[in-house]
Amino acid sequence: MTNSSSGKSQIKEKMIKKCVYCKNDLQDKRAIDVCDKCGVGVWGQRMFNTILQGMNEADKKGDLCLEHEIPENKN
Ligand SMILES: [Zn+2]
Repeated sequence: MTNSSSGKSQIKEKMIKKCVYCKNDLQDKRAIDVCDKCGVGVWGQRMFNTILQGMNEADKKGDLCLEHEIPENKN
């Protein structure tokens, strides 16, 4: 029996994002707190995809600014 992990797990649970509609846990890192099921229900499949893509592209641009884009070496 190990008691050392109990404290950490409580903190971890607080950090897990939950869908604002159905309160399900969101496993992936996304910019909006809405699961796929509710997102499609609220905005529709096409609109929800557009929203997610816009969020992801914004994140990628932010990363590239910090890390600088390094082109692959192809011989
Ligand atoms: Zn949901």
